[in-house]
Amino acid sequence: MIRAVAGGALIGGVSGDNVDREESDIDRLNVGLAEQGRQVIAIGGRCEWGKCRHCALAGSSDVLPLDSEGVLRQLDHVGPRVETLCLYTPGSWWKSELNDLRPQILGKIRGMVQAKTVVVEARSDLITADRIRELEKALPGKGIEVGVGLDHVNSYFRNDILNRGDSRRSYLSAMAVGRESTTKLVTYVALGCPTLTEQEAVGMAVETAIYAYDAGTDVVSLEPLQIQEGTVQGFFAQRGAWQAPWKWSMVQVIRNFRGLVSDTGVEVRVGGEVQVPIPVGRPSNRCSVCDSDGRFAVAFREFNRTQDLDLLRVLSCECLGNWERVYNDQTQPPEEIADLLAEFDRTRQCA
Ligand code: SF4
Ligand SMILES: [Zn+2]
Repeated sequence: MIRAVAGGALIGGVSGDNVDREESDIDRLNVGLAEQGRQVIAIGGRCEWGKCRHCALAGSSDVLPLDSEGVLRQLDHVGPRVETLCLYTPGSWWKSELNDLRPQILGKIRGMVQAKTVVVEARSDLITADRIRELEKALPGKGIEVGVGLDHVNSYFRNDILNRGDSRRSYLSAMAVGRESTTKLVTYVALGCPTLTEQEAVGMAVETAIYAYDAGTDVVSLEPLQIQEGTVQGFFAQRGAWQAPWKWSMVQVIRNFRGLVSDTGVEVRVGGEVQVPIPVGRPSNRCSVCDSDGRFAVAFREFNRTQDLDLLRVLSCECLGNWERVYNDQTQPPEEIADLLAEFDRTRQCA
């Protein structure tokens, strides 16, 4: 599912001749992550589902190919200060394509004393007690995180619109496995959907986060939908029917959710920082001041580190009033959703 770092999603993908672009995107991202002690190992290969409309990898006929030697080479160059290694691949860590490579990767990481935490991702139906046990056995003494995409608790948005093809039953069963292990399960909660208003998107994200919390997730990671080529949100955005979420909306979700589940052990992260290919449209306050001075990025990063909600409460900028107007605007997205989705699917098939 190539998704996330620090909750962030590498919801990604390439198209056509973009393999090189993806590789260089990953290099660029790793430069930014280095100061946080993190590194992404890009594994490549195909997603075994490959149909999510919000994922650029899904419709691509030319994803970053699986290159076992390249992956092992990346592991040979992990820096001495990298504490968190994120092993990202389209689809799941347990996809059959990786059966031969997985033991080799884990063998290399086992000997890396600096790597304290290892992050993988999987679709919920592939998370079983045996697999988690095996992973823990292969990485003694290391923290392990498994990222799981739930996106929207409402199956209309999750499956009918985004076409995730995931059931709540398999999500709950993955969470049950997580509760019995020391591995941390991280639930990716989407903020935004081309068919939701800003306010509805915030409400849906909070509802999804609460569902994940009730299911026993260790971490809720908020993933704002971003505009990438080949995705349904990119398609709608091009037609003026959708915009990337506001950063104020991200703050609103975290504050609302935290307000409802304070005094609990669940960790909340603001994600979306790392995506491949680099999105052409990111969360924005449409503001020349706070969109460029980095105050939100710094606050989100510090919040992820400390869980201190005051860091988000004190954020201020004159654009807040603009966001409030959009947030309270009841104008509904276009009614011809079904037509647009069908057109998007046709475009993708032709790509
Ligand atoms: S599961 Fe969906 S989001 Fe993840 S890589 Fe596959 S198509 Fe993309
Ligand atoms: Zn602003």
